[in-house]
Amino acid sequence: MNRLNGKVAIVTGAGRGIGAAIARAFAAEGAALVLAELDGASAEATAREIAQAQPGARTLAVPTDVTQATSVQAAVAAAERAFGPVDVLVNNAGINVFADPLTMTDDDWRRCFAVDLDGVWNGCRAVLPGMVERRAGSIVNIASTHAFQIIPGCFPYPVAKHGVIGLTRALGIEYAPKNVRVNAIAPGYIETQLTHDWWNAQPDPEAARRATLELPPMKRIGRPEEVAMTAVFLASDEAPFINASCITIDGGRTALHHE
Ligand code: NDP
Repeated sequence: MNRLNGKVAIVTGAGRGIGAAIARAFAAEGAALVLAELDGASAEATAREIAQAQPGARTLAVPTDVTQATSVQAAVAAAERAFGPVDVLVNNAGINVFADPLTMTDDDWRRCFAVDLDGVWNGCRAVLPGMVERRAGSIVNIASTHAFQIIPGCFPYPVAKHGVIGLTRALGIEYAPKNVRVNAIAPGYIETQLTHDWWNAQPDPEAARRATLELPPMKRIGRPEEVAMTAVFLASDEAPFINASCITIDGGRTALHHE
């Protein structure tokens, strides 16, 4: 408890799934929190749930579209007005765009990059000036194991997630002398609506679900809370020398050699 006491944090896409779990964990660790989410109602719902579970938690739901730089800047301004300078940003908002490269529409390509890569950059760009000025800050970007390994049929999502790792490393190095850390988390399969939507889009959803559970060495998929615990660690003062790095959370799946 209290590992983020005194810190002001913004979590994008905090209305559900991994982002909501990170918001809950950050609030439990004492952070004042802006839930920056496309769907204002789901952000409000998460904020209410946190307030009920943790009386005294400081939360603010701010409808935010990470594809729009001005929208993200407005969320940062709202955080500063409500709680003070932003210490931590978690760029979590993301979407799956899985298509065949040659039949994919231009719109699919742009939609994927707008959220999954531009969205991360928009967030970084909005908080970095303040962090650099104060010589303190931690940015945590939620990438994916798709940033390292390619699953056929998932184009162009992994291209954008490779970009998130590149962005993380580039900015981590650029601002290291200013004591601003930029790190990533690469989750494998985590049980959220996104995963259920993917299973349900398969010809045999139950078979797809079983196959997903069979693949990892631990024979299960991850829970949003397991990603949240790592986000707390990277955001906190417990990780002062971890920078331009990525922590994989996949139960060992990407390390497994398939015969
Ligand atoms: P969910 O779809 O459950 O949640 C994503 C959240 O992001 C939703 O609340 C969504 O809002 C919000 N969002 C989408 N677009 C925008 C936008 N333009 N601006 C602001 N918010 C937006 O996804 P997960 O929790 O599963 O995923 C979170 C992150 O983790 C993503 O970056 C994803 O790529 C990554 N990830 C997930 C894995 C998994 O297995 N679940 C594995 C590896 C990585 P709305 O509901 O209104 O659309």
